[in-house]
Amino acid sequence: MFTDEYYMKLALQEAQIALEKDEVPIGCIIVSNNRVIAKAHNLTETLNDVTAHAEMQAITSAANYLGGKYLQNCTLYVTLEPCVMCCGALNWSQISKVVIGARDEQRGFINKNLSLHPKTELVTGVMENECSDLVRNFFKSKR
Ligand SMILES: [Zn+2]
Repeated sequence: MFTDEYYMKLALQEAQIALEKDEVPIGCIIVSNNRVIAKAHNLTETLNDVTAHAEMQAITSAANYLGGKYLQNCTLYVTLEPCVMCCGALNWSQISKVVIGARDEQRGFINKNLSLHPKTELVTGVMENECSDLVRNFFKSKR
């Protein structure tokens, strides 16, 4: 059963890998024709790179897989709402669909009044509690 929940669980597994590396636990996967073509998790600490967000890496890896820069017929699943940078990158990719787990009221693109590419379908709130608990517990443990 290839539902949005099914794929969000895979993105959550990626977030779990980030957590084990003591990274902010955010995971992302890209699916094309029911096939996972990219998996990534946040690596900003490991790589000392503020641009190493899960989405940025997944976009690059999916484009490499497809051999083209546009992510048509692709869906990106991400556990936390993308930031302004990743929203911009998703715009350039012209990705078909973006599915978000938890909202990020502070840093997410939605409250900044930005939107994705006009061709991009947006779905929010898939496994929202699981996705937000992961990030919330991470920051709680840091205090
Ligand atoms: Zn980002």
